Amino acid sequence: MDETRTGIAMPYLERIKGPKYPKAKETASRGKTPEEVKYYGSGYWKRRSEAVRVRDKRRCQECLRNGDPTVYGINVDHKIPRRQGGTDDDENLECLCDTCHARKSRRERTTQNR
Ligand SMILES: [Zn+2]
Repeated sequence: MDETRTGIAMPYLERIKGPKYPKAKETASRGKTPEEVKYYGSGYWKRRSEAVRVRDKRRCQECLRNGDPTVYGINVDHKIPRRQGGTDDDENLECLCDTCHARKSRRERTTQNR
């Protein structure tokens, strides 16, 4: 019976269409390459970044350099961006607050866009 088949086919098609448009994910990973999305979502990075947070006592290192040790930040940043060959070594990683992190990301994006 055709009617039954149509009734099944419709939701099935919608299900196939679904994953093509992962809106929430796209927003979260804006500006990142697929490799970076995978990297930042990995268990390795979670452990690595947590170790840096503990080391920096969750204080924003940029604000600290500017004389304010009271600002907390949970963003772990590559001082030299990975895209520019920055490593995951301790010296290249530090905690940043949202403000400093956003400022730095903006600066990096501007430098990148030629
Ligand atoms: Zn800061």
